[in-house]
Amino acid sequence: MQELIERLREDYPNLRLCEGKRFCFRPPRTIIFVLGSDKVEQNSDALQLLHEVGHALLEHKNFATDPERLRMERAAWEKARELCECYGVCYDEEFVEEELDTYRNWLHQRSRCPQCGLTRYQTIDGKYHCPSCEE
Ligand SMILES: [Zn+2]
Ligand SMILES: [Zn+2]
Repeated sequence: MQELIERLREDYPNLRLCEGKRFCFRPPRTIIFVLGSDKVEQNSDALQLLHEVGHALLEHKNFATDPERLRMERAAWEKARELCECYGVCYDEEFVEEELDTYRNWLHQRSRCPQCGLTRYQTIDGKYHCPSCEE
């Protein structure tokens, strides 16, 4: 993992890689990574890291709507797949699908109307509206 971080720093000097509590990408070019001690987790950590690099390389910014965000998540994983080849990291399809599932569930939860349970829709400003409770 340490080695991968060093290589990424060399290959992408314009990205800022910082250690933190969870993996995330902060536009425009900061990537937060976690250094786990568990050996078993190392491959998924590397994958996560490459996924965040994917966001950065695709120049993802903050997004207004959730479907848009899901598209970006997918795109970043596709980018990670390419990066995996360059850096000799195993692209774990199952892990990626699990990550995306977590994301989809979260999205689904968010889109449910707390009053009637109906699926709400989102306008471009990111706000949710219920077709039944709102006129
Ligand atoms: Zn992501
Ligand atoms: Zn409702």
